[in-house]
Amino acid sequence: MTATELTFDSSTLADAIKGAVYRPDDERFAEELACFNLATTHRPALAVAATCTEDVAAAVRFAAERDLPIAVQATGHGAVTAVDAGVLISTKAMTDVSIDPRERTATVGAGAKWKAVVEAAAAHGLAPLNGSSSDVGVVGYVVGGGLPLMGRTYGFAADHVQRMTVVTADGKVREVSPSSETDLFWGLRGGKGNLGIITEMTVDLMPVSRLYGGGIFFPGEHAPALLRAYRDWTAGLDEQTNTSIALLRLPPVPDIPEPLRGQFVVHLRVIHLGDAETGERLVAPMRAVAPAIVDLVGEMPYTAIDSVHQDPDHPVPAYERGMLLSSLNDVVIDQVLSVAGPGVQTPVMIVEIRHLGGALSRQPAIPNAVGHRDAAFVIEAIGVLMGPAAAFAPAATDALVASFVRFSTQPGGATLVNFHGHPGDDADRARCWTSPTYARLCELKSMYDPNNLLRYGHAISAVHTG
Ligand SMILES: Cc1cc2nc3c(=O)[nH]c(=O)nc-3n(C[C@H](O)[C@H](O)[C@H](O)COP(=O)(O)OP(=O)(O)OC[C@H]3O[C@@H](n4cnc5c(N)ncnc54)[C@H](O)[C@@H]3O)c2cc1C
Repeated sequence: MTATELTFDSSTLADAIKGAVYRPDDERFAEELACFNLATTHRPALAVAATCTEDVAAAVRFAAERDLPIAVQATGHGAVTAVDAGVLISTKAMTDVSIDPRERTATVGAGAKWKAVVEAAAAHGLAPLNGSSSDVGVVGYVVGGGLPLMGRTYGFAADHVQRMTVVTADGKVREVSPSSETDLFWGLRGGKGNLGIITEMTVDLMPVSRLYGGGIFFPGEHAPALLRAYRDWTAGLDEQTNTSIALLRLPPVPDIPEPLRGQFVVHLRVIHLGDAETGERLVAPMRAVAPAIVDLVGEMPYTAIDSVHQDPDHPVPAYERGMLLSSLNDVVIDQVLSVAGPGVQTPVMIVEIRHLGGALSRQPAIPNAVGHRDAAFVIEAIGVLMGPAAAFAPAATDALVASFVRFSTQPGGATLVNFHGHPGDDADRARCWTSPTYARLCELKSMYDPNNLLRYGHAISAVHTG
């Protein structure tokens, strides 16, 4: 059923919910479904602007009764595939955030962004396990595992979920926790979103209010020395220190300040959860490698966390791919330099390497569906689809990341679902998990959504024949 074949009457749904229902010819349709990733435009038959769990359940039942596919979106940061049929449930109005300082938890609605949690938690000297941009939605990030900036210290965000309210494809509202619907509790923490739609989630907060961190920009010509120094440096870092390094081809646009505008630079990112004196000592070997263009590493409040990566805070058209690496040895570094080092012409704007290990490599007390805890680093390439390079960026990004398959933790290349990019066939999607985890996710999909109604994004097929 596509938007142009809209044969059902949506007024019963509109009457049943507190939110709104938009058809493609409604003025608000495009605005409700707009994605942060401007490369994707959704065109479902119906958009449901949900305001509460009951709205989501009513929309799911409405779609299930008509055998219409169902999708869910909060911010569109993870809009890796366009929704071209059925019902897209937009949760962007479900932004409630409440903090329990005694329990050190945050309870959030399906549409809440990390920024709201960071700010509310900071009032109590606490911080959540958000990633590089706090503009990302909490729920979409956590169901994909959620690789936080404090990951080596605390593990994946999905390791710190207390409970969720979930609407499954049969329209049933379920309380999911370590003692209720335990299969779903396992699968929704890392298995991405296609086992059900989460309407509320309670996550742990960490006792962090200040840190020693930020970013240092170096001239790109020093990339070979910096990458080799980074490899040696990360080998000795403890779990209180979280880092990444990126090769950035910054465009000549006014958004980017001088002296970085239009430059090829290396960006070292640091988050040390200890005192400034120790932090200074830790970062000294990297500072000694080359003169910085700008050094922004220092003591800072957790509320300034977005300044570490400086991800774009406005929608951009992007195409990404990621690959887990078993190590960052000389051969891997040579490969990074040959595809993205000084003098290479490429439309891939960002190539970043994040240091994993530490708490990320350990299962939480209650195991979950996060895949591949054995990886040492993740490499991520992002092509920004603007200007004359836009046409070549997706193929170049695919080829760049594919060249690291042989350095990954499993044959065919392992990925993290939040860094996977556009999902291909079943075999490609399966790369986000270990084989036993993927097989169990497929079983759960067959139990909770046998008709594959939730089939967009990183959806796993209901029937696993592999
Ligand atoms: C600038 C940027 C920085 C990022 N940094 C990091 C990072 O540091 N670490 C990291 O792990 N990831 C990171 N990501 C990836 C991000 O976590 C995923 O793209 C995530 O899916 C975004 O969630 P969203 O809700 O904001 O996006 P949306 O596009 O709204 O949702 C994406 C998907 O999440 C699922 N989902 C959303 N809402 C629900 C729900 N209510 N119930 C069930 N499933 C749901 C669905 O599968 C949906 O298709 C980053 C992405 C961007 C664009």
